[in-house]
Amino acid sequence: MFLPMSQPSPLPHRTAPTDIPFPGSGGTLDFRAVIFDMDGVIVNSEPYHEKAFFEVLRDIGYEHRFDMRFSDYVGLSDHIMWVDFVQRHRPPQTVEELLALKRQKVIEAMRREEPVFQGLPELVESLAARCRLGLASGSQHPVIETVLSLKGLGRFFSAVVSSSDVPHGKPAPDIFLRTAELLEVAPTECWVIEDSKPGVSAALNAGMRVIAITNTLPADQLGQATHVVEDYGTIRRLLLG
Ligand SMILES: [Mg+2]
Repeated sequence: MFLPMSQPSPLPHRTAPTDIPFPGSGGTLDFRAVIFDMDGVIVNSEPYHEKAFFEVLRDIGYEHRFDMRFSDYVGLSDHIMWVDFVQRHRPPQTVEELLALKRQKVIEAMRREEPVFQGLPELVESLAARCRLGLASGSQHPVIETVLSLKGLGRFFSAVVSSSDVPHGKPAPDIFLRTAELLEVAPTECWVIEDSKPGVSAALNAGMRVIAITNTLPADQLGQATHVVEDYGTIRRLLLG
């Protein structure tokens, strides 16, 4: 289900395609929307996801009986991770119960730490003045809502989609295609901002261009992306000139 967090942006957005010189492209690029991943792009949440995951394992008594690598699940949905865990370890808890336990810990950490990346709010505000913004996240809606309540970010996003809203999570294109549909733009009119390999693949599979930021992985692991950048100022220059 789509969460109707989509009050129209208070800032004007263009209805005509923008016509922006693109450094090094030798031409211009039209785009009408930018779709953000959340974890590792809006908030520095991956350390808290990992911490919450291991706290849940400790709480349910699996701390020392665990044979999965958390890093294998970065960029994938929590649901996929817990389904794998339940299949391997057969705990008494259901996937839904495990999801809820971890979700609560992540929400508490987001509220307490407010780990919004430096420079991200300014980028979001600048982009929202030029185009529509969407959020496409592997996290569940209660976590997304918590993050969008930080620094007043929620008002800039016209469409918010969780992987729980679509049949297949990243690297399938579903979440980005659904976000574009809600934003009423074509996939080719979208830029995606991502930090993970499944996320970059999902954006490309959706027929979108993707800027990967090296918040989580080094540049050489994100080489598939249209552009790889180290900071938000570079994204701003690429998209807004
Ligand atoms: Mg991410």
